Amino acid sequence: MEERSTLNDTPTSERVHIGFFGLRNAGKSSLVNRITGQDMSLVSDIKGTTTDPVKKGMELLPLGPVTIIDTPGYDDEGELGGLRVKRTGEVLKTCDIAVVVTENQDPSPVEKELLGLIRQRNIPCFIAVNKSDKRAYPDVAADESKSDDTDAGDAGTAKAAGSFEPVGATCAGAVWDDAATVFVSALTGEGVHELKEKLANALKGQGKQVRLVADLISPKDIVVLVIPIDTSAPKGRLILPQQLAIRDILDAGAVSVISGVEDLGDTLSALKEDPALVITDSQAFGKVMKIVKADIPLTSFSILMARYKGFLDEALKGVRAIDSLPEGARILISEGCTHHRQCGDIGTVKIPDLLKKHTGRQFDLSFSSGHGFPEDLSGYDLVIHCGGCMLNDNEMQNRMNTAVRQGVPFTNYGMVIAHMNGILERSTAPVI
Ligand code: SF4
Repeated sequence: MEERSTLNDTPTSERVHIGFFGLRNAGKSSLVNRITGQDMSLVSDIKGTTTDPVKKGMELLPLGPVTIIDTPGYDDEGELGGLRVKRTGEVLKTCDIAVVVTENQDPSPVEKELLGLIRQRNIPCFIAVNKSDKRAYPDVAADESKSDDTDAGDAGTAKAAGSFEPVGATCAGAVWDDAATVFVSALTGEGVHELKEKLANALKGQGKQVRLVADLISPKDIVVLVIPIDTSAPKGRLILPQQLAIRDILDAGAVSVISGVEDLGDTLSALKEDPALVITDSQAFGKVMKIVKADIPLTSFSILMARYKGFLDEALKGVRAIDSLPEGARILISEGCTHHRQCGDIGTVKIPDLLKKHTGRQFDLSFSSGHGFPEDLSGYDLVIHCGGCMLNDNEMQNRMNTAVRQGVPFTNYGMVIAHMNGILERSTAPVI
């Protein structure tokens, strides 16, 4: 289930993603409900109640806005179970932090496999031990009235047992080593505050340092944003990269001036001084490059997004591969959205037309959208991705790394359009 956002919400792609994983009935959903303070997931004692990942945005200070993701059991069985497991793997690709919820003192083979996947991706991981009291604290376990066998979960606490390590301590010497272990009770709420503190502090000092544009400009600079209002522009609002740019310019103490393409000449003439930077929608490069004087730095939202998402260098290398692609080369054109695409027909119509016009060759094009980015890219000679504004950094970099590992050049829409317009060097100069 996709998280819905309101106008004041931090976009999902800008939030820290925290995924809850584990076996069916380990108490994931109950714990997630406790943490979010809402019944975002269905809880029952029937194994496999959560069939799709469920997302919820919340504020987790000092971390800030996060997206909590409750996933189906990693041990699901059968055909449907296989699908759920696949989806869990897909969620992992987007996670900044993972929490493995378990009731086992020793990890089962499936839990070991899950931990292996998390470690492969270098994701900070916590183990939330649920229902551990029955095994670890016989005196507590004996009191069944204080426990709960359903998915609502239960847990002894270190305080209750006295002999266990404190809540949140690393499980040194135990089988759940290498990860911080927290004893929680979804039923009573014990340990939940400590787990939230752990999560909130997990990425301390590792916050995103890269800005979309703020580090490229100085206070009081004028930055002109060229935003075409045509049929592909969403009605009554700006798209995410445009919103992010305006906010970033404000944060930098600079001045943003917004212009349509047709008014750009008049807008520039009305300014008392040349702008420090012009940022255009890539699709307008052809017209804008003729209006903006050659000595005024010019780039696009899409090129800024490539830098912001951490794949600028690969995108530059990738776009240069186009010129040497043979007739019939296989190109995957991939978009981050499925429904309500904000990018109109760029991927399906405009880029294919530009490729044909620029190279004079016919390519074999395939398309993917949403989370359906293929793992196996071995059949492709190039991947052209959208700006990825709705995907978080992990997912975007995972896509790029998948291509790089398989030796497939990877670039994005903005780079391709800049290159096809003969403006690649100029448009990337401000960001290199
Ligand atoms: S298709 Fe890509 S660039 Fe366009 S809105 Fe979706 S994620 Fe953003």
